[in-house]
Amino acid sequence: MRYYEVRASQGPWRWSGRYDAEHRWVLPGVDCPRCGTWAGAGAYPTVDLSGTGALAKELEETLLPTTVAEYRRMAAAITPWVAVDQEVTPGCAFGPLRGTASGDFGPLTAWPGWQLLVREDARAALRELPLQGVEAVPAQLQGSRGQLYEVEARPIGRAHYASVTPDSPSCDYCGHQGGFSLATDWALDAATVSSSDVFRVWGTGVMVVSERFAATLDKLGPSDVELREVPTH
Ligand SMILES: [Zn+2]
Repeated sequence: MRYYEVRASQGPWRWSGRYDAEHRWVLPGVDCPRCGTWAGAGAYPTVDLSGTGALAKELEETLLPTTVAEYRRMAAAITPWVAVDQEVTPGCAFGPLRGTASGDFGPLTAWPGWQLLVREDARAALRELPLQGVEAVPAQLQGSRGQLYEVEARPIGRAHYASVTPDSPSCDYCGHQGGFSLATDWALDAATVSSSDVFRVWGTGVMVVSERFAATLDKLGPSDVELREVPTH
């Protein structure tokens, strides 16, 4: 199986579609006394937190970065609603995208780069294949001419160690794993990409799709995205 990194193309873009949206629930960032204020990337549109009562209300507000203890209280309360491969970090978002949209969208939209949206026909085409780990959740976008779906990408794939340059240390106090930058020709750790046809690279907002995912969308015509084949080692 081949894998491709998905990015918005440099342009000019064929499609006029634009959207402005946030996920329904967002965990706050953390204000750590040792390593400072931080939040990770990551969104799980399939996770419905409406059953968490008062916490759901809290997370619908835009929260300021909070203490490590308060963050842990919130993250622990969410645990029953998330799967084991849905890693929860400060700044993590849940539930459908909500906002506004205008214009016409291509089969696949990757702007901003950490969100993948597909059109209705693209979702239907993906559902006809025996793909793994592909879940598309209706985005609630006012003004949109057709239904768009956000494709959930879990942080399953890891970058190969030789592609990674650490740029901040891990923190024992709050559990921050430490930041890193990816080489421009980064590769995937082959041991981590065994099943899913779409995933996020752990510790980043980088989206990766399988060749069968990419080929399915390609049949529906051009999208304003660039695909780079990512080697696996
Ligand atoms: Zn810390």
